Amino acid sequence: MSTTAQPVSFSPRPGAARASRPALDAAEARRIIRAAEVALLDERRQLTAEELDALAHVPDGSVPSLAALAHEVRLAWCGPEVEVEGILSAKTGGCPEDCHFCSQSSAFDTQVLATPFLDTDEVLRAARETADLGASEFCIVLAVRGPDERTMTRLLELVPMVRDQVGINVAVSAGILTDEQARRLAEGGVHRYNHNLETARSYFPQIVTTHTWEERHDTCRLIAENGMELCCGVLLGMGESDAQRIELIGQLRDVAPAEVPVNFLNPRPGTPLADRMMVKPLEALRWIALFRLGLPSVILRFAGGREVTLRELQALGMTSGINALIVGNYLTTLGRSPEDDLQMLDDLRMPIGALSKVI
Ligand code: SF4
Repeated sequence: MSTTAQPVSFSPRPGAARASRPALDAAEARRIIRAAEVALLDERRQLTAEELDALAHVPDGSVPSLAALAHEVRLAWCGPEVEVEGILSAKTGGCPEDCHFCSQSSAFDTQVLATPFLDTDEVLRAARETADLGASEFCIVLAVRGPDERTMTRLLELVPMVRDQVGINVAVSAGILTDEQARRLAEGGVHRYNHNLETARSYFPQIVTTHTWEERHDTCRLIAENGMELCCGVLLGMGESDAQRIELIGQLRDVAPAEVPVNFLNPRPGTPLADRMMVKPLEALRWIALFRLGLPSVILRFAGGREVTLRELQALGMTSGINALIVGNYLTTLGRSPEDDLQMLDDLRMPIGALSKVI
C-alpha cells in the first residue's frame, strides 16, 4: 500500500472508547468532505485520524456525498476493476478459540457441526465453480487456531493442485502462523493469506480471550515478510465505538494489507453476540466509505453480513468505495446468488478483473 507518513496518532484517545459527539451541520459537513477530496485526489495524501473522525460525524443526509467521494477515490487510487473471490470452508467448526462472534467456536453451543477437512475432489470442484464465475481468487478457509503439521501437508498438496489445474490464485485462511509455516506456505504457492485483525486493539479483549490481538498482528507481519499478500479483514457491529473503528483503520495501515474484507456482524444463535443489533444500512454505507477514505489504495471487499445488513442497498455499497466481492456463500451463512451479484456489476458497468498479480 502506498502511504504518506502521517504525524497523527491513531491511538484511542483516553476515555474515547464509548464517547460520541453530535453530528456536524450540513454546511460544516460539506466543508470537511471537500477538504478530504482535496487531500485524497489533489494532494494525493492520506487522511489523518482527526480528519477521519470529523468525517465520521457528518449528518445522515451527507452520507451520499461521503459515499460519492469514496467512489471517486477508489477509481482514482485503484482503477475501475472489481475483484471477485469465492471462499470454501474446507474444515468447519470445532475451533478451540472463543471469538465471540463465531459459530464455529467449540466454546459455544451453536448449530455448526465440526467436520473434517474436505477431500481433494470437493476442493477442486469448488475452485472450478469459482473460476467459472470469472473470479481471480479462491480462498481455502479452515476453522483452526493455526495449522498443525497434518494441515500444513494437506494445504501444501492442495494449493499447487488448485492453481495448476484450475488456473486461479489461491488464498488460504488457517489462523496463527509461525515464521516457518509462513515461509513454507509462501514457497508452496499461496498467493494471499487471510488473517483478520477483526477489531481495534483496544476492543479486542472484549471479543476474544483465547489469543491476543498482538498474536494476530504478529501473523499479519509474517505474511508480508514472507512474500504473501496480506488479506486482513474487519468485523463491524460488535459494540466497538466510532473512535475504535478509526483506531482500527490506523492499525490496518500499520500492517499494510493488500486487501481488507469488510464484514458486518450477522449475530449467530448461541454465540455471546447473538442478541446484538445489526448495523443499520446507512451506517454501513458511512463506514464502507470511511474505510475507503482511510485506506485509499487497498482492495476493499464486500464480505460477510452484507446481504442482511444492507438489504436493498447492495449496489450503493459498490458505489461507496468497494472494489471486490465475495460471491456465493460465506463460511457459516448463505450469501445471495452469484448471478445476482454479477448482474449488479454488469448493471453498474463495473468490469471484473484481477487487482493484483495473477499466477
Ligand atoms: S473466528 Fe476463526 S479462530 Fe475464531 S473461533 Fe471462529 S474459526 Fe476459530
